[in-house]
Amino acid sequence: MDVLRVEGLKAFYIVESAGEQRAVKAVNDVSLSVRENEVLGIAGESGCGKSTLLKSLLGNIRPPLRHMGGKVTYLQGEREVDILSLGKEERQKLMWQHISYVPQGSLSVLNPVRRIGDTFRSFVGAHLEIKKEPGRFESLVKRHLEDLGLPVDTLKAYPHQLSGGMRQRVTIALATILKPRLILADEPSTALDVVVQRGVIQLLRDIQTEQRNTIVMVTHDMAIHANISDRVAIMYAGRIIEEAPVEQIFMKPLHPYTQYLIGSLPRIGDKSHRISAPGAPPSLVSLPPGCAFHPRCPQAKPICRQEIPALSLAAKEHRVACFLAAKEDADVDSTEAAGSR
Ligand code: SF4
Repeated sequence: MDVLRVEGLKAFYIVESAGEQRAVKAVNDVSLSVRENEVLGIAGESGCGKSTLLKSLLGNIRPPLRHMGGKVTYLQGEREVDILSLGKEERQKLMWQHISYVPQGSLSVLNPVRRIGDTFRSFVGAHLEIKKEPGRFESLVKRHLEDLGLPVDTLKAYPHQLSGGMRQRVTIALATILKPRLILADEPSTALDVVVQRGVIQLLRDIQTEQRNTIVMVTHDMAIHANISDRVAIMYAGRIIEEAPVEQIFMKPLHPYTQYLIGSLPRIGDKSHRISAPGAPPSLVSLPPGCAFHPRCPQAKPICRQEIPALSLAAKEHRVACFLAAKEDADVDSTEAAGSR
């Protein structure tokens, strides 16, 4: 069952430059669906539009970002809700108990001059009737922290008294205390060292298993996707260019850009030179015609410079936006089919 569906979403930053209005096409015709109880990873180089996509999924589109078209539909109970058509108040009602958000840094969430316990109390109090039921807040927060393996003493601390990793764990605890159906996480372990990073990602995975919620996780780090994501969508220049179950993305990437992304990852014991994609990503203000990857693609054909490849099914649950990859895979499939007859 799909709990979130995105159809033809476009969100552009409209900026003034030298007296002219320009559109930065950060999210450019994105369609995807997220199934109940899965972790969908969104990957791609920085500046590809993945964080803007997450912002748009939250309905958090404020100038200079502008919604240019498309829909973001959540399943709330049996009801379908288009978050981009809701007013601020209605959107707030959907937040935290239904959709929750884990930001990049804990400092935008935790007030530096308040104890962690006070932050939890005002957050929970804004959503549940804790004043009418003495002791409810204390037992709820204690149980939640214990479930997450966090010391209850953390509630007495100020944010600056905690390590970066512990602050991020607290932020995740706050975002999940109301057991949301969906968690949108934006680079939740960036700026942490590798060991702490692993702990934070494992914490999110444990919560997802325990609470049976769905996670949309944005990170440029493919190693994190290998650890937590069930499916991965790769973004390039504002579009999704490949989407597949995580094993397939790593074992058989079809898009040349994804092949570079996977091929450039270091491997234990392999000292060979890793090759990353030549050149640099295009400007989102003036995208090249046709496939936006064509100036960097060694396999580009004349059609690639003229037409934008559609994201189409190349194998089971595997979609790719590449003239060559889609065709090659179709050929392989038909050969296999012929061979098995
Ligand atoms: Fe390369 Fe063409 Fe495929 Fe784009 S559509 S990735 S340019 S082969």
